[in-house]
Amino acid sequence: MTTPTRILITGGLGQVGSELYQALCTQYGEDNILLTDVRKPENHTVALFETLDATDAPRLAELVSKHKITQIYHLAAILSARGEQDPLWAWKINMDSTLNVFEVAREKQLHKVYVPSSIAAFGPDTPKQNTPQACVMNPSTVYGISKQACERWGEYYFKRYGLDIRSLRYPGLISYKTLPGGGTTDYAVDIFYKALQQGSYECFLSPDTYLPMMYMPDAIRATVALMEAPSDNIRTRDSYNLTALSFSPAELAKAIQQHLPDFTISYKPDFRQQIADSWPASIDDSVAQAEWGWQPQYDLEAMVAEMLEHIRTKLQKTVDA
Ligand code: NAD
Repeated sequence: MTTPTRILITGGLGQVGSELYQALCTQYGEDNILLTDVRKPENHTVALFETLDATDAPRLAELVSKHKITQIYHLAAILSARGEQDPLWAWKINMDSTLNVFEVAREKQLHKVYVPSSIAAFGPDTPKQNTPQACVMNPSTVYGISKQACERWGEYYFKRYGLDIRSLRYPGLISYKTLPGGGTTDYAVDIFYKALQQGSYECFLSPDTYLPMMYMPDAIRATVALMEAPSDNIRTRDSYNLTALSFSPAELAKAIQQHLPDFTISYKPDFRQQIADSWPASIDDSVAQAEWGWQPQYDLEAMVAEMLEHIRTKLQKTVDA
């Protein structure tokens, strides 16, 4: 008899977790998904929730046993911009939590573990255009260094202990359900709210800063597809390059102006410009395409149209409430 899939998500109330949770509930049933976070849900209706600081190894082990967990999706992390404000704190949270997840998964022989990486694992010495799967990385932010270290540790646990660890290097993620948590690509979400609320936006990156990006439904589909793929297909155990879009703030503004012709954008680059300048402008994800069939669905125009529609509805509901 096969053991039923029972999933624990760490950091599950964030930008990725709140949407991945819904997808996993659809896939496996809400009674099999334990959502956890260091903070409590505000207005989410969640079947199974426990507070968990993922740096607390005994509590993590207790929850894995109590809920008969077979897989962990480890999303708790401090992202790039927040990480630069307190580097040692970010390093501690990102590394301690990930090693706790790997250790509990090894000890309790969990079936699979998902730990996302990021384009931040690349650095200024990396080829900027069509960044290959394997190349010089040399990240320059504490977040990027922690993501690269987690990639290396993931591959180590796979090779040494046979733990089925899978990972994607997410590009900047664009979504309307939950606000982003302090990354360098957050402008590509903020801009939609400001466009609809104020008709103008002051961008913290310069107009021609190209970065790899993805609309959240593509990122969630990629995550579920990666985790569902047969283990033999997963020949990349550090982390897969993954991409859908590459655009600059000026191009995104132009795409928004197709819907809101009076929208204006101005630029006031801050410390995040330096972070963005150290990252790839576009990504080669041909290895993910070949090994488990990855294909994005959303282009810039489709993403912008959906974002405007959903955020307009969301803002209207706030006014009506
Ligand atoms: P987020 O900041 O929106 O959410 C992170 C969640 O982790 C928050 O709900 C926070 O409360 C929680 N958290 C923080 N410290 C914790 C701790 N000690 N224990 C438990 N929970 C804790 O981040 P996200 O955008 O949802 O990112 C999820 C994962 O995806 C992260 O690993 C991140 O590095 C990766 N990623 C995200 C993006 C993006 O654009 N959002 C891009 C690349 C990679």
